[in-house]
Amino acid sequence: MTNVAFIGLGNMGLPMAQNLLVAEYSVTGFDLAESALAALSADGGVAAASMLEAVRDADVIVTMLPAGKHVKGVYLGGEGIIAHAKDGALLIDSSTIDVATAREVVGAATDAGFDMVDAPVSGGVGGATAGTLAFMVGGSDAAFARAEPILGPMGGKIVHAGAAGNGQAAKICNNMLLAISMIGTAEAYNLGRALGLDDQVFFDIASNASGQSWSLTTYCPVPGPVPTSPANNDYKAGFAAALMLKDLGLAQDAIDDTGVTSPLGSLSKELYTAMDSEGHGGVDFSGIIKHLAGTL
Ligand code: NAD
Repeated sequence: MTNVAFIGLGNMGLPMAQNLLVAEYSVTGFDLAESALAALSADGGVAAASMLEAVRDADVIVTMLPAGKHVKGVYLGGEGIIAHAKDGALLIDSSTIDVATAREVVGAATDAGFDMVDAPVSGGVGGATAGTLAFMVGGSDAAFARAEPILGPMGGKIVHAGAAGNGQAAKICNNMLLAISMIGTAEAYNLGRALGLDDQVFFDIASNASGQSWSLTTYCPVPGPVPTSPANNDYKAGFAAALMLKDLGLAQDAIDDTGVTSPLGSLSKELYTAMDSEGHGGVDFSGIIKHLAGTL
């Protein structure tokens, strides 16, 4: 049986680990929170007393942590995973982090003889629970081939995005595009309303015209046209504005590092920063329509 160590059993990591248990992997987990460890044990996993105890005998090590500094902290240095994993272990980081850190950590793992991929996800807690996450994977062909069957029980779609760091690159480029298209959709609705255009009428026209987008037809930011969108549920997340802001911050880091011109990416970050600092970070990101209208 393949021994998997799972580090970071939070909102995403715990249900992902639970899906590995359902697929009959042996899972040893570690998290700083006792409650997460207890939940893993209750589902048949093993709660380790420390991270190093969890990883020592693991064939595969998966990490699902908040940010790049946590990922660096657990992988690098004398007390890190790279120094203590057993020979031949496969390393998978599914956290959403900056591209530069992902490349640094995968580079250090590769130098030490390990296969490692960055494999951030989209799909949220719902996708993690259902085992339908979309994985965007960066790393060598050999590392991807080894990672794919492990990611299978946790994911619906697994795409090899290219070399190390490209999983993170795909994730932040997609989410930056999503933020821009949601803000554009929200602005169009606010203007249409001010001009006396009915929400459903505008939907029927734009969804069949050149204004069509996922933000409009799947995640419509006004109640009515798409009954499953968070707008119909008082903008309960869904995908919280604070999480969108995190991804826009990572996109901004990459914009700064590369010198690429992205005025709308940068402005999107400013708008979500304002929404968050007004205390609305927990609202679904489509609630930007109310933030822009001054009604949130
Ligand atoms: P979370 O805060 O719920 O979980 C992170 C867990 O990591 C916590 O339980 C924390 O105790 C643990 N942790 C932190 N440092 C640790 C350490 N040194 N050793 C062991 N455990 C440690 O976050 P989450 O919502 O599960 O998100 C995890 C990652 O997935 C983030 O990078 C996030 O951006 C990304 N993500 C989240 C969502 C979402 O909808 N929540 C969607 C897509 C991607």
